Amino acid sequence: MKIIIAGSGAMGSRFGLMLHRSGNDVILVDGWKEHIDKINNDGLQANLNGEEVVEKIPAYHQDDLADVDFSADLVILFTKAMQLETMLKSLQPCLAEETKVLCLLNGIGHEDIIKNYVKFENIFIGNTMWTAGMDGPGRVTLFGSGSLDLQNLGAGKEEAAKEITKVLSEAELHANFSEDILASIYRKACVNGTMNGLCTMLNSNMTEFGGTTYADDIVEAIVTEFVTVAKAQNIELDQPAILAQIKKCYDPETIGLHHPSMYQDLIINNRLTEIDYINGAIVRKGKEFGISTPYCAFLTQLIHVKEEILGAK
Ligand code: NAD
Repeated sequence: MKIIIAGSGAMGSRFGLMLHRSGNDVILVDGWKEHIDKINNDGLQANLNGEEVVEKIPAYHQDDLADVDFSADLVILFTKAMQLETMLKSLQPCLAEETKVLCLLNGIGHEDIIKNYVKFENIFIGNTMWTAGMDGPGRVTLFGSGSLDLQNLGAGKEEAAKEITKVLSEAELHANFSEDILASIYRKACVNGTMNGLCTMLNSNMTEFGGTTYADDIVEAIVTEFVTVAKAQNIELDQPAILAQIKKCYDPETIGLHHPSMYQDLIINNRLTEIDYINGAIVRKGKEFGISTPYCAFLTQLIHVKEEILGAK
């Protein structure tokens, strides 16, 4: 299959590398020139579960796509949320009538943007439990295993979704066809919408936060806002199950001692966060449905204040 990885940072590199290794015709597209140049000169370098590998995959800057003769069967979107719209504009020369576009970004409501650039029946959305880390231009660390769920948005496109699932699974990405992807996306967003923003603001890992007297009340208040907004869109979520899932993050024996990715983006790497597409998305959708979302609104504002104080880019 001819596949464009649109947004080839940590996660895009992982998917690009695994899909290329399984025999697909893959190109990497990204907006970070140094990264693209390094991949084209030295190959994509990865520490893949402790083994050093180099994969030669053609890489292009997103501003140079007009001259690229590559009509994709599938585009996998893996930008950060705030880079999505610019990437969609850049991709236009590579989108044919039948090109399918799969969005795997974290966060809520990306389809509202994608549908302005891609035919609705060609849009597929998913979420993934794979992880990846960027070490520097041209170099990533890919540890552990994962999986992903995906579904078609357009009516009658189940077979196309299953075909994408098959290609991803052949690359050992462990893809599953979901009957209810929006609920799955919301469930993951509840975890990100609590752990990410709170641990970033509080300068804590998840075990430290979860051990405080106030953790349960704050988490429940935020999750209630997510669940209420989801319900207004006919997305049913099991709130007790989500709260139990979040509590598992506090376990120091598993992931509790880690700082969530937003902490790493903002505090460690001084980068802007995806808060507007997690808690901020709940505020926007809450307004649409007349639902009050004070916890999500306050957390979104606090993170933006912190971005400004730190001069994040
Ligand atoms: P990333 O930050 O590694 O890459 C996103 C974009 O930022 C890429 O275009 C990349 O080239 C650019 N970038 C990265 N570092 C840069 C630097 N120092 N200077 C300039 N540009 C730089 O993002 P990601 O982790 O691949 O995440 C992509 C999407 O996947 C996000 O929505 C994220 O929430 C989601 N996600 C990430 C993980 C993970 O483990 N990383 C897991 C699940 C979902």
